[in-house]
Amino acid sequence: MSFYHHFPKEDSMSAEIISGTEISKTILEEIRKDVEKMKAETGKVPGLVTILVGENPASVSYVTLKVKTATKLGFNEIQDNQPEDIAEADLLALIDRYNNDPAIHGILVQLPLPGHIDDKKVLNAIDPDKDVDAFHPVNVGRLMIGGEEARFLPCTPAGIQELIVRSGTETAGAEVVVVGRSNIVGKPIAMMMAQKGTGADSTVTIVHTRTKDLAAHCKRADILIVAAGVPNLVKPEWIKSGATVIDVGVNRVGKNEKTGKAILKGDVDFEKAKDIAGRITPVPGGVGPMTICMLMRNTLWSAQKSV
Ligand code: NAP
Repeated sequence: MSFYHHFPKEDSMSAEIISGTEISKTILEEIRKDVEKMKAETGKVPGLVTILVGENPASVSYVTLKVKTATKLGFNEIQDNQPEDIAEADLLALIDRYNNDPAIHGILVQLPLPGHIDDKKVLNAIDPDKDVDAFHPVNVGRLMIGGEEARFLPCTPAGIQELIVRSGTETAGAEVVVVGRSNIVGKPIAMMMAQKGTGADSTVTIVHTRTKDLAAHCKRADILIVAAGVPNLVKPEWIKSGATVIDVGVNRVGKNEKTGKAILKGDVDFEKAKDIAGRITPVPGGVGPMTICMLMRNTLWSAQKSV
């Protein structure tokens, strides 16, 4: 019997679309108000430095967006551009200077760095209390411990959790299945959903390329988080009726002939999945806009702790 015998078309309802575009606007407005309040009460605002080495066009456009967003929120934003041939020691010295600058609460180093510089060494040189990307091993450890210990949450997983919570999805006791085990998405979001507390308390399974029956695991999920980077990996028949589906995947599947812009698709077959899921994120306009928003929130939190 085919899947559609279980879920006849006439009985199916279209899922609620979780708009990261809208939710991120709301959160940015909350941050802007908090910055105003902080300024009125302390005379200080969050300070964020964005270090860009070289002129890689993709990096330039990411940094420009971060700078624009931070400026709009009323942050003290410093864009520090360094030449492609900067020596590793000089970059480390620069980071040390910002580590010791009390007006700076967040330090961002845009990746990738040129080949002669060791990314890991540079990221590990950032003071963990100013590491708003939350990639420093100290922050990864703090995330594992959870609760008050977790000063910053990594931005994409934090955005995913916000989307789940703000969409009204119950997480306590929910079966969460995470497809993917990367250090930037899969592993941290799995750990965050398994922690004690609001927006978490879930029963979590992580699946990956060596998992025996991917479909069977996905079908159990009340909350399915997919971060594999494979277009249309998750088939509609793998989704439990009414589940909340968070599609993290961003795959370039072609080019719009008219605009010249890349056509983006997620890891879930959205058009069919939306007739089965209860709630679902689109691509683009789902998880994407949340990442930068969480970066700003981490900087605000860092500033609030320090003043
Ligand atoms: P990654 O480092 O490439 O990891 C992908 C993970 O998915 C791996 O753990 C891999 O398993 C698993 N996987 C791949 N193919 C699979 C399959 N056929 N079946 C089961 N598991 C499979 O990717 P990532 O950095 O986590 O990113 C994942 C996706 O999210 C990408 O499309 C990326 O562009 C997107 N992304 C979006 C944002 C955003 O919107 N802000 C941020 C970050 C990432 P193995 O470990 O076994 O290889």
